[in-house]
Amino acid sequence: MTRPPMQNGDFAPGSVGDVFRLIRAGVATSRSSLARVSGLAPSTISLRVDALVRLGLVSEGGDEHSRGGRRARLLGVSRSAGYVAGMDVGANHVQLALADLTGTLLVVEGIPVAIEEGPDAAADHLWNALTALIARQDLDPELLLGLAVGLPAPIEHQTGRVVLPSFMPSWHNADLPGLFSRYTDIPVLIENDANLLALAERSEASPELDQLLAVKLGTRIGCGILSAGRLHRGVGGAAGEISHTSVDGESTISCVCGTPNCLESVASGGAIAARLAAQGYDVRTAADVVELGRSGDAVVVEVLRNAGTSIGGVLATIVNFFNPRDVVLGGTMSASSPLVAAIRAELYQRCLPLVAEDLEVRAARRPSDAGVRGACQLILEEVLAPSRIDRLARELDAVPAAGR
Ligand SMILES: [Zn+2]
Repeated sequence: MTRPPMQNGDFAPGSVGDVFRLIRAGVATSRSSLARVSGLAPSTISLRVDALVRLGLVSEGGDEHSRGGRRARLLGVSRSAGYVAGMDVGANHVQLALADLTGTLLVVEGIPVAIEEGPDAAADHLWNALTALIARQDLDPELLLGLAVGLPAPIEHQTGRVVLPSFMPSWHNADLPGLFSRYTDIPVLIENDANLLALAERSEASPELDQLLAVKLGTRIGCGILSAGRLHRGVGGAAGEISHTSVDGESTISCVCGTPNCLESVASGGAIAARLAAQGYDVRTAADVVELGRSGDAVVVEVLRNAGTSIGGVLATIVNFFNPRDVVLGGTMSASSPLVAAIRAELYQRCLPLVAEDLEVRAARRPSDAGVRGACQLILEEVLAPSRIDRLARELDAVPAAGR
């Protein structure tokens, strides 16, 4: 079996953190299989596993048959060592979730949105909702290890600052990590929502093979990129911002980008809703548009098809450039059949044969909670990063344990 790709900082191969990475990825589940996969001596593996057990991160239990016919104790990520939180903030919805250290979601909850009140009030609202959820789940608040928040906006990766969000201009330069630090000192990461969709779609078996574009079709349009299983954010965090490309068609909403008739102002859920509302239809949100599209109304279907053609045209250019295996469609508007059919048709028609041959355009696997799943994965990578586990192990060694 291949080793999962390295991530998050420098660490020594074969360190405590590296061994934990192999256990987390399910690559090796016993001391003997860890020795086999890592190439480390069994005595070294024992030291590493003992450190992980003392840190409370790994539990030993159950048996598995080893190759020699002897029974080996199964190693797994401890479910009681802590948990993380993920939030997916959209223009019209917010989802909260808690996940254990294996990434299994413990609970997902939708709450009313409060983004109009600005980032300061929203952070307050979101933190209160999170602590109430933790209390209702009967979890120890001290064991919350980290939080990741997805937003439909470009995010400056180094600082987590929001940059020129088209959905809510008052959020420009919002420093959510700073705002959350009023309540907590746990790590708080802010991430673009399409990047979280991409993480949620990463394959479990062989992530290093993922070449994937995740297209978030919501009130706005965003795109996350997985290259060899890793998020590609670009230098400033703006990679995947496809939505401000100029397209045929006329904008129905204003956009901060300044490009005339950009894709978002012509073909996003928000733009389609505005176009249909101007024609007398009773629609406000992207969800209203999807619902209306199901009626089969010829005018509505035509508007959805035109938007899909615009989106497919822009996607064709980047698909030809990037040559991905998967184009994953998520977000509220990905439930609209006429829109998705038009995107697929345009994409396949305009892709090079070599690119189209292995291309799969598909729906997100579990679109209903993809954002919070991606958020929980992102923060788990941060708080369980090998370099961080190595630091915890060094701190543990610095304090002599009783009886050692
Ligand atoms: Zn724009």
